[in-house]
Amino acid sequence: LLQLWAPLQFLGFFYRELRQSLVDMEAMFEVMSTTSAIPDGTQTLPAKEGGARVTLRDVSFTYGGAVGGRKVVKNVSLDISEGQSVGIVGPSGSGKSTLLRLLLRMYDVTGGSVEVDGVDVRNLRQDSLRSITAVVPQDTVLFNDTLRHNLRYGRAAASEEEVLKAASDARLDGTLAAMPDGLQTMVGERGVKLSGGEKQRVAIARAFLRSPRLLLADEATSALDTATEVGILQSLQEVAEGRTAVFVAHRLSTVRSCDKIVVMEAGSIVEQGTHAQLMDGKGEGPKSGLYASMWASQQAEIEEEARVAASKSNL
Ligand code: ATP
Repeated sequence: LLQLWAPLQFLGFFYRELRQSLVDMEAMFEVMSTTSAIPDGTQTLPAKEGGARVTLRDVSFTYGGAVGGRKVVKNVSLDISEGQSVGIVGPSGSGKSTLLRLLLRMYDVTGGSVEVDGVDVRNLRQDSLRSITAVVPQDTVLFNDTLRHNLRYGRAAASEEEVLKAASDARLDGTLAAMPDGLQTMVGERGVKLSGGEKQRVAIARAFLRSPRLLLADEATSALDTATEVGILQSLQEVAEGRTAVFVAHRLSTVRSCDKIVVMEAGSIVEQGTHAQLMDGKGEGPKSGLYASMWASQQAEIEEEARVAASKSNL
């Protein structure tokens, strides 16, 4: 058995190395495939300050094409004006993340249209759409490289001062101060490991560096502790200031202060309004009252978690 141990260790090492390079390659391919699989448009968005206007007109979408597949977005219409913040909530699988992918034109709609500043995204050059957008994804990919490189991924031409300012705006300065070589520290699998919250902060710092007109954020499903979650939400709100922002959220508290909250169910918008309207059962849509009941059940879960935590700490 001992004789087998050394070769197995060796194989395990290689497997881990390979897996890691695949993770980085996957990120690269995702960028490549989204730029090549979809025909590029020719129009560019005129340089403008402030938020972008986003319009979804009767949007439908089926993964793998309109024929044969299951429609995961069904006749969604939504108007998001310049500088507005919109929260998208709803059960798992209701199509929230898919809507973000359609806004980024990672896929083409199978029905209807997505417009940014009045231009159908199919007519837009991919680089023009990307240049006004920043994404804070569910799980941020870190390259096996320095923290500086990972932050600059937001804007390659950023100066050292701009990188440091973005890190501080995203409240990464504490993390940075604790790092052996500051911005030069290697992070990722083969370097210093960052926590889930820190990785999200890297994504937020990248967003600060991009200074986008359209911010898209997809909340991680894995629970962060409450203090981290509140801090990250504050940073996200700061980066969203003065821009158009779309937040996909699992925790309803995340979108409470959004200008508009959209509730999705099975690919359709079933209720929309402000938090106060939705809580009063005054949301628009066929399922008025759904948000209020989701809120009540999430509050009950939070209270139960707090009760369990308190009883554990009393032991
Ligand atoms: P969650 O809250 O769990 O993140 P969601 O509301 O964001 O879910 P989506 O991820 O948009 O939901 O998924 C909507 C539906 O589309 C689901 O049924 C899902 O299984 C399916 N789906 C998502 N991504 C793909 C894909 N790449 N190919 C095929 N089907 C997919």
